[in-house]
Parts: sequence; structure tokens; C-alpha cells
Amino acid sequence: MIKLQSIYGITRKKLETYFEGIGDKKYRATQIYEWLYRNKVKSFDDMTNLKKDLIEKLKEDFTFDDIKLVIKQEDELTSKYLFELNDKHRIEAVLMRHDYGNSICISSQIGCNMGCAFCQSGRLKKIRDLTVSEMLLQVMRVEEDIKERISHVVIMGIGEPFDNYDNVIDFVRIINDPFSLAIGVRHITVSTCGIVPKIYKLADENLDINLAISLHAPNNELRSKIMRINNAYPLEEVMKAVKDYIDKTNRRVTFEYIMLSGVNDTKECALELVSLVKGLNAYVNLIPYNETENIEFKRSKTSQITEFYDILKKNNVTSTIRKEFGSNVSAACGQLRAENIEGEI
Ligand code: SAH
Repeated sequence: MIKLQSIYGITRKKLETYFEGIGDKKYRATQIYEWLYRNKVKSFDDMTNLKKDLIEKLKEDFTFDDIKLVIKQEDELTSKYLFELNDKHRIEAVLMRHDYGNSICISSQIGCNMGCAFCQSGRLKKIRDLTVSEMLLQVMRVEEDIKERISHVVIMGIGEPFDNYDNVIDFVRIINDPFSLAIGVRHITVSTCGIVPKIYKLADENLDINLAISLHAPNNELRSKIMRINNAYPLEEVMKAVKDYIDKTNRRVTFEYIMLSGVNDTKECALELVSLVKGLNAYVNLIPYNETENIEFKRSKTSQITEFYDILKKNNVTSTIRKEFGSNVSAACGQLRAENIEGEI
């Protein structure tokens, strides 16, 4: 029997099993989903088509979790939200308004243990994984705030999603559920620094969401210098797993590549990157580095980024330069949170 779990964090399938377990009907799970995600009620008492004793039973077994909005910072196209969890820890989510819809970048952990040299999030060691409901509530509370639908979700905020794999997968199943937020798998992206066994696992989930790999360097020597995870899972293993993902899902994979001045933005790096990804059903997203305090890396000059991009293009590697969102609202990973923690001291 499931005990005192958040009602938001539970997939419809698991909820069906729960109802069967208490001798009720499976379809109750769908009823509950409609109350939660269509009617957006915030208490079992508002589920008016349920009998009183069932409501009491649900209250015994489930809670209605929430997260509290602490600060919102906005510019024209980006809003950054800082939320406080029940145990007072703080996490952030970023809303981006694209011409194709509203997209949210959510956090998957409090802190991060991956320790990438250029990343602010990694400065705070992981305190704990986020629960499924804490991930879901980031989407729901931002939707509530803007009074509009969110059509795209990227799991690219603070944390390493594949270090919280099971919760992330349940979260994806819930937001994808037609009776919940109904966000299509093609509108859901998970980004990983390259935890190889989980790339294989995701390929077998039958989920077909977008996979983004934080590559950031075209060879092991450089990658190990800026991304500690490369010591555990070197490039050749990451690439093998990515090929497997593409073969099994037929989905195009994204390689993220932050442009760090004088580190990974040379012509040689561009050519090495070409040989690494050429022929794969993949594309490279070049990301201008968002400079952060206390970290010495600098963003590549625009001319350097364009030159890098041209080399990829000339060699038939599909690539884009990421449009910048939110540098005014500290939207790079971990920045808003970091500023506010520093502000508190
Ligand atoms: N842990 C996951 C997801 C969170 S990080 C991952 O590594 O993919 C999301 C992306 O932002 C990663 O590609 C990360 O390398 C990148 N990133 C981190 N700090 C950044 C910064 N200051 N500017 C630009 N991108 C950054």
C-alpha cells in the first residue's frame, strides 16, 4: 500500500493499481487526474463526484504537496522563478516565450554532483533529488502564474536528470498523459552530461522524448578537464550509447556545445567535432557561454562562434547557434539561486 505520497507525483498507471488494491475501480484514477489537471482542484474535498468515505481514504493515503513562489524575475521573453519547497530548500525554473509556444526549463535536483567546471549549479553539492511532484509543480505553478498553457518542457535546470532517473521518467509519463498536461513526447527534452547506462535505459522506455547530450568538447583530454563525468563515461562510450538511442528510437539527438573562449572554440576543435558526429542523425547546438561570477571561463567572441558554426556547416554537420534567453534574469543554470543564497548571507 502506498502511504502518504503526493497525489501529484503518481502516474495514472500506479494510481490504477492503488484503486484496484483498495477494491475500487481502475477508472477512478482517470477521474482523479481530471480533477487535478483539468479542474486544478487543490483539495480532495473539491472532488465532488467522489463518495465521502473514498475522500477520507484518499486523505489518509495521499497529500496535496505544493511549492511556494519566492521571487520572479522577468525580461521580455524570459521569466525566472525561484520556488521554495516544503523543507525550505530553493529551486529554480525558467519560462521562455518562443514563437512556437511557452517552454519551461525545470530543475531535477537540489544542487548537482556532476561538478562541471563551468557550471554554477555544481558549486552546490546535491542535497537531494526532487520528487516527481516537485518537478510537476514547477510546470503547474508557472502555468497558473501566466494563465497560459505550457507546451514544451526541457529538463535542463539545476541537477543531473539521469542521477534522478526513476522520478524523471515518472514525471515525463505524467506530463505526457492525455488526462494530465498532455505535452507531446516531441515537446519534451531531457539533457544529460552523459550518464551512459541511463542513455541505454531511456532508449528502452518506449518514450521517444528528445535527448540532448552536453558534449562541450570533442576529445577526452579536453572533456575530462571541464567535465568530471568524462572520467567515468568517456566520449567513445557516450557516442556508442547515443548511436544505440538513435537506432532504437529513430529520434534525432542534440549535442549541446557551450562556447568557452580559448578552451573549446578553436578551428581544430570544430574539425574534431565534425569527425565525432558526422553521419549521425544529430545536430549540434552551439551555446554562447553565460558568464557567471566566481567562474573564470569567458564566452567566445561572436566572430569565433560564427567561424566555428561555418566549419560545421561546410562539413555538413547540422548546427544552430542558440538564441540567447534570459542573461538579464540570471537564467543560466543555478544563477538566480546562487545570487539569492549569497544575498542571504
Ligand atoms: N545536468 C544536465 C542538465 C542541466 S545543465 C546536463 O549536463 O545536461 C543544462 C545545460 O546548461 C548543460 O548543457 C550545461 O552544460 C549548460 N550550462 C551550464 N552552465 C552554463 C552557463 N553558464 N552557460 C551556458 N550553459 C551552461
